[in-house]
Amino acid sequence: MRKQRTLKEAIKASGIGLHTGKRVEIELIPAPENHGIVFHRADRDVFIEINQENVIDTTLATTIGKNNVYIKTVEHLLATLYGLHIDNVLIKVWGDEVPIMDGSAAPWVYLIKTAGIIEQDAYKKEIIIKKPITIKEKGKFVALIPSRNFEIHYSIHFDNMFIGKQKIALEINEKTFIKEISKARTFGLLKDIEYLQSHNLALGGSLDNAIVVDEYGIINEDPLRYENEFVRHKVLDAIGDLSILGYDLKARYLAYKSGHELNNKLIRKMMADKDSYEIVGNPYMEKKIAAAVWANLEYKQKLT
Ligand SMILES: [Zn+2]
Repeated sequence: MRKQRTLKEAIKASGIGLHTGKRVEIELIPAPENHGIVFHRADRDVFIEINQENVIDTTLATTIGKNNVYIKTVEHLLATLYGLHIDNVLIKVWGDEVPIMDGSAAPWVYLIKTAGIIEQDAYKKEIIIKKPITIKEKGKFVALIPSRNFEIHYSIHFDNMFIGKQKIALEINEKTFIKEISKARTFGLLKDIEYLQSHNLALGGSLDNAIVVDEYGIINEDPLRYENEFVRHKVLDAIGDLSILGYDLKARYLAYKSGHELNNKLIRKMMADKDSYEIVGNPYMEKKIAAAVWANLEYKQKLT
């Protein structure tokens, strides 16, 4: 179990919203222990805490909201905070969407690393999965199963031959997040983007913040950052979605063709089944509880 962390200094940034196409200012401010991740719609003076109840839409992007005030596309920033173990921060946004930056988490990693990270006194609580939670739906599959570490096993299968089948399996920690996941960009099929833009969506989408693919290949001139960048971006999105739990997750997350919507359903299904998880706080007492949970697991996965 680790200590909680926050930023050493505040970070100011601005950029374009992927869906609205509007320029947005954002500021990340250090916060005390046990504060959690809280957004503040600064132009409307509404605070939106990161938790399951405040996730109000998961189509195309993850939108959080409260009292009819919302902020879109929070997932890459949330994934970065989780990946770098930043637990306490106030995020002020002067607009209704987090800037998309280059479509990946790399600019957030850079800004946070530049500002610096400090460790706080309180421990970060963990959530341990005690039995498998699975959802199968329309040829898609997603699951959380017991594991001592946070691992992701992800596969995608697109009809488009340039995306095709890709898979990845890795343990998520600060190092693997930065190296293997953070640089993977948002992607889309040209026909889908044209359709979205004709319906006033993805208005900020461009080759500067997304990989765009059509039936002849990748349209962007700059090369892919990873050979299987597409599935790695899906991992980034999943980390953002799972971070909404607010705890360090100890589980193996499995996904086949998942997305924000299914990830959210999975979290809700888990939270509704109180026997499926245990929240572990105090590091001394809780080590014992965690050990007991492990000893009593009815389900033991093969560690292969
Ligand atoms: Zn994404």
